[in-house]
Amino acid sequence: MAQVKRDYYDVLGVPRDADEEAIKKAFRRLARELHPDVSDDPEAEHRFREVAEAYEVLHRQETRDLYDRYGHEGLRTGGFRPENFDFGSLSDLLGAFFGDDLFGGMASSRRRRGGDVVAEVAVELSEAASGVTREVSFAVATTCTECRGSGADPSAGLEICSQCGGAGRVQRTARTLFGEFVTAQVCGRCNGSGKLVPKRCEACGGDGRIADERRIDVRIPAGIHDGQRIRLTGEGHSGDVGARAGDAYVVVRVAPDPRFVRDGDDIVSTVELTMTEAALGARRSIPTLEGEVELTFEPGTQPGELRVLRGKGMPILQGRGRGHHRVLVNVLVPRRLSEEQRRLLEDFDASVDGDTYRSDGGFFERVRAAFR
Ligand SMILES: [Zn+2]
Ligand SMILES: [Zn+2]
Repeated sequence: MAQVKRDYYDVLGVPRDADEEAIKKAFRRLARELHPDVSDDPEAEHRFREVAEAYEVLHRQETRDLYDRYGHEGLRTGGFRPENFDFGSLSDLLGAFFGDDLFGGMASSRRRRGGDVVAEVAVELSEAASGVTREVSFAVATTCTECRGSGADPSAGLEICSQCGGAGRVQRTARTLFGEFVTAQVCGRCNGSGKLVPKRCEACGGDGRIADERRIDVRIPAGIHDGQRIRLTGEGHSGDVGARAGDAYVVVRVAPDPRFVRDGDDIVSTVELTMTEAALGARRSIPTLEGEVELTFEPGTQPGELRVLRGKGMPILQGRGRGHHRVLVNVLVPRRLSEEQRRLLEDFDASVDGDTYRSDGGFFERVRAAFR
């Protein structure tokens, strides 16, 4: 199916009286966004071709005049054929036309940054609440101290690369939509370093790196959640010479505390009152993250009742203050009664009137509120 060709000015998003500079700018912006090197969008390649074609027509006065007067048809009869072309890598393209170094030199070098490492550390809930420092060890590749990462035997040194004469780059001629142009490629022999290793370093076997154990005291911040990662920038594997090291990550596992349930920044726990304590009232010592808190329960306390200890929950990570501690009341009912106890309860039951057990119907709502 033949597609209707879009207007070239629309494709570049410029007005019809745009000057050459505006057209160039629009193309550069769109190329950076749509080039298949940088965009994962399946539509990007099609759109990039469209943009490249629009630029090709509009940046030259002859083809632009032809297009302005006769449209797409005018170009076709005028012999312009935007056919399949190899537009090269984006950095080649922009480098050749605009002198851009798109990736800030990264793409022009094959020096790789070091890999990342991960270690896991387990802490108690109370430690997560207060914050704690832990020594964590990582198995990392570090730069060889013998050869300082060059991989070359220090006594033999390095040689200038014969392929590129030490420049680290070789020239390549590429044919693209825009014609032929010369780009500089990273030298394949020396990987862009311009140097070759005549004799390998014995300490690292020429790798430039050796396996090592790195121990780091890691500050685990108060309020950390189970499964969160802490990044230690630059503490991972060493990279190639001149490249930056990888990062180390610490995955924090917060062990569950049998006394508490953590609900975000809040803590939930239960307190058990006997049937008579609930009926007559009681005082109870409640464990919290910061020690015991004394609570008074009024006569007639109901199962599922909730007491909120404001600010007694977990510290809020990277924030101010703390969550709350919610205490959920459970009421214990006797499982086993002696003859006498049974008689006492039966006597009690005989004295009950309509007001004694007056329900407020809120049990389910209260339990639900405990877990929000
Ligand atoms: Zn070495
Ligand atoms: Zn070379």
